[in-house]
Amino acid sequence: MNVSKAFIPTLREDPGDAVIASHQLMFRAGLLRKLANGLFAYLPLGLRSFRKVERIIREEMDQAGFLELKPTVVVPGELWKESGRWESMGEGLLRFKNRVDADFVISPTAEEAFTALVRDELSSYRQLPLSLYQINTKYRDEIRPRYGVIRGREFVMKDGYSYHSDEESLDKTYQDMARAYRRIFKRCGLSVVPVRADSGAMGGSGSEEFMVESVIGDNTLLLCKACDYAANVEKAECKTDYRPLSPEEGRAAAASVAPAETIETPNVRTIEELSAFLKAPPASFIKTLIYRAQNVELDLSSAPGCSSLKRHGTEAAPGAYIEAFFAVCIRGDLEINETKLAALLKASEVSLASDGDTERLSGAPLGFAGPLGLTNLPIVADHSVCAITDGYTGALAKDLHYQHAAYGRDFSAWMLGDLRTARAGDPCSLCGGELYEKKGNELGHIFKLGDKYSLSMGLSYLDEKGESRIPLMGCYGIGLDRTLASVIEEHHDEDGIIWPISVAPYQVIIIPIKFEGIMKDAALTLQKELEEGGIEVLLDDRDERPGVKFKDADLIGIPYRVVLGDKNLNAPNPQAEIKSRREKENRLVDLKTAAGDLIERIRGDLAEFS
Ligand code: ATP
Ligand code: MG
Repeated sequence: MNVSKAFIPTLREDPGDAVIASHQLMFRAGLLRKLANGLFAYLPLGLRSFRKVERIIREEMDQAGFLELKPTVVVPGELWKESGRWESMGEGLLRFKNRVDADFVISPTAEEAFTALVRDELSSYRQLPLSLYQINTKYRDEIRPRYGVIRGREFVMKDGYSYHSDEESLDKTYQDMARAYRRIFKRCGLSVVPVRADSGAMGGSGSEEFMVESVIGDNTLLLCKACDYAANVEKAECKTDYRPLSPEEGRAAAASVAPAETIETPNVRTIEELSAFLKAPPASFIKTLIYRAQNVELDLSSAPGCSSLKRHGTEAAPGAYIEAFFAVCIRGDLEINETKLAALLKASEVSLASDGDTERLSGAPLGFAGPLGLTNLPIVADHSVCAITDGYTGALAKDLHYQHAAYGRDFSAWMLGDLRTARAGDPCSLCGGELYEKKGNELGHIFKLGDKYSLSMGLSYLDEKGESRIPLMGCYGIGLDRTLASVIEEHHDEDGIIWPISVAPYQVIIIPIKFEGIMKDAALTLQKELEEGGIEVLLDDRDERPGVKFKDADLIGIPYRVVLGDKNLNAPNPQAEIKSRREKENRLVDLKTAAGDLIERIRGDLAEFS
């Protein structure tokens, strides 16, 4: 391909909204353009690299025995109603009606579509395990698309779904995927950190995310300095420095503690203000926050204040609670982890209640909620609260707190769980070593779904005995755009991209100092020889100054650059100048052997990525 015909509109300036290297470089190197917020078009150069990432993923999926399908991107809303996600997905799911008023969604993911396809074909255990995937467009109506294609609205995902007759078979495919993902990212030249994305409580090996370290990472990862524990903070556990007491133990321990009594705390609301005002450490406070939870699957029939809550389903088959409020308590120096809270409540989403709801439900101005005497809300407490036998907490009235509050004696929880956010410095739950933090972006995710979708969507098969059974499922996603951008994040310098050979749009760029005379002849011959050797070549045939061509070559990051100048070509032994994008120095090689040399080197480089 000649540069003059290749439509590579490079830019000297970064686009105004681009704050990270990959976003800047994808625009400046002419890989990408923006159509609207979160919507991007790949230009030819960008698409070539994108296709290479796609090919690597496809090869590894095929190798792992997955079969590729191509379902539609537009999916009937009915399927999403069956799974329950029509209600629970929130605003990220783009729903629309067609001309006859039927509901549709643009797939943000495809558990429903695959499960519906499999449901129509699956009858016997002999068809299992069944592992399917697609590489297809997704749409998520992200609130704040950012960092270019790292968080776009439309993007391409490889999503795989597997169906199994037992846990063992699911685990085998899950482990196969865990290995395939490691190979995929390695072949793209990426260093990924696989992290646990589930809590140990749920079985330990049911979900793994593949993260790249990134300062703009949306995820906080906690890693252990002593062992290989690595987890997303959303799910990270840590060893606790307290022993939770049972209510009886709490009562016994509080026997010698003075009765709870109110103290005046005028205009003192936050834990920091209280701690300074009362000269007591934050760990002696019980922090109480009112949370709103949506689509709560937990049974709330016995929960305080919940008897009249509305549910999704019918009277015969009542579904999840549409909305419920909870008072969530945790020790004053700790933070509530909303992912753990949502998991404990079996809710699709949890968020702090609005100020108005908080004041209405606690009967007090903001900052004075507390578990003592709170009867109209279920109290959900972190285990840390069960070790407090002489603490401070809000007294449900303006400018009042309790002192000497004791768990078990003065209050107890409707539900207990691990709700605390682990943080750097906490002890590792596996080995007790110290945890430290890194920021990361998720490139891929593998997940044991169990029977969630098979149950809700009525998927079944007949086992060896002819009995109807429900298959288990796994799902496995990788974002292609984000993966490509992450390659650039990891491989660039101040001059531009430094493509790993496996995903480079072209492998060699030939730059004749001027595209005329012997330089042109040598360039065309070399291009032909290289292409015959299977190498992808870009020839800069433009009538530009050499400096401009060199700058563009560095910017677009082609792994090898060959410069052809008349001085070297006119020498008794004509030579070409070869430079690797990774290295500063160039070398002179005989023009006659230049093609052979390069072909051999590039084949060697490629072999390292296969
Ligand atoms: P995130 O936490 O970043 O929103 P997610 O956990 O919602 O991602 P999954 O549902 O696990 O994402 O989707 C699988 C993969 O799809 C992700 O690992 C990521 O690579 C990609 N992906 C998800 N959302 C986007 C997006 N808005 N833009 C680009 N890629 C995305
Ligand atoms: Mg995910």
